[in-house]
Amino acid sequence: MLGDKRQIKIFDTTLRDGEQSPGASMNLPEKLQIAEELIRLGVDIIEAGFPIASPGDFESVREIATRFQGATICGLARCNNADIDRAWEALQHAESPRIHVFLATSAIHREFKLNMSRESIIENSVAGVKRAAGYCDDVEFSPEDAARTEIDFLCEVVEAVIDAGATTVNIPDTVGYATPTHMSNVITALKNRVPNIERAVISVHCHNDLGLAVANSLAAVEAGAGQIECTINGIGERAGNCSLEEVVMALRTRSDFYTCDTKINSKRLVPASRLVSSVTGLHVQRNKAIVGRNAFAHEAGIHQDGMLKEPSTYEIMRPEDVGFEKTDLVLGKHSGRAALADRAKQLGFTLDDDQIKSVFKQFKILADQKKEVLDEDISCLIEKEICEAN
Ligand SMILES: [Zn+2]
Repeated sequence: MLGDKRQIKIFDTTLRDGEQSPGASMNLPEKLQIAEELIRLGVDIIEAGFPIASPGDFESVREIATRFQGATICGLARCNNADIDRAWEALQHAESPRIHVFLATSAIHREFKLNMSRESIIENSVAGVKRAAGYCDDVEFSPEDAARTEIDFLCEVVEAVIDAGATTVNIPDTVGYATPTHMSNVITALKNRVPNIERAVISVHCHNDLGLAVANSLAAVEAGAGQIECTINGIGERAGNCSLEEVVMALRTRSDFYTCDTKINSKRLVPASRLVSSVTGLHVQRNKAIVGRNAFAHEAGIHQDGMLKEPSTYEIMRPEDVGFEKTDLVLGKHSGRAALADRAKQLGFTLDDDQIKSVFKQFKILADQKKEVLDEDISCLIEKEICEAN
């Protein structure tokens, strides 16, 4: 069944772009925990950080690169020797390392940020990619603010970096300005006008400033992109990035249309979402697609009646396929704190001792009122506890 579907690579940047969300800094043990969950989830590439940004960032990229197998581990670098060398130093022990080099290409960035001519942008990009390619075979190049770059110049840059050794060319909509048709036109232009484009995978990196990150990523895939950059819960700079769970389930649910798939284990989507939300303190809205608490809740009588007769009347996905627990009986008033802590962990929550103590108190009160305490009740208590603490 997988054979006839084009495989789209999932490049997760929760630990790099996601960590740039205001207030979402993570420490090393938290990053390791998320990296482990990303491996379980089956992402193809983990962007673990920006090694030159700080000693902490360097350390976490190095630890993740050293400890985890089963996914490519990527580190970000600006287009200069020091950044690229530092990235390689962090990545060198990875089973499958990737260096990700970026340089802005749009007129606004060239003029106001970099003060560089078009020629020197190309020169620097080529030099950066060559230096990275000297260290490893897997090199990604991003022309930052590509969505606002003149298409002729973008094609020129892309051709030059592929010749220099870039194996993935990522098209970032850095400021969330693109629309689906715009994105599709950019990818189509690259495919039609860059003579060596077949030698690289085209990737997209969409921001959600207009709420279009997932739609723009899907439009890019439809036009031929082979990699999507995204984050768990869509966290990231400002309004965030393309949400991994949404884009993955859109490709899977509508595989009749996209004829693509990913190797994501969708049953881990909800646990991964909970882990990232509890580590970062960035809570998921109840009506968030796929992983929100209400994503599969049916309230209207007509809907409930339909659901009882045949779930597919109102459900395009099954809750268990994205990792929501069946509403099984799990704990009762005789259950102890250890059982609760264990259940919380299985549900994807990370709680410290004080939080467990407090949730346990609430759990006992609930267990007195209700014979059966379900997984969803426990999730609800924990989410309340985390919300109140923040
Ligand atoms: Zn970004």
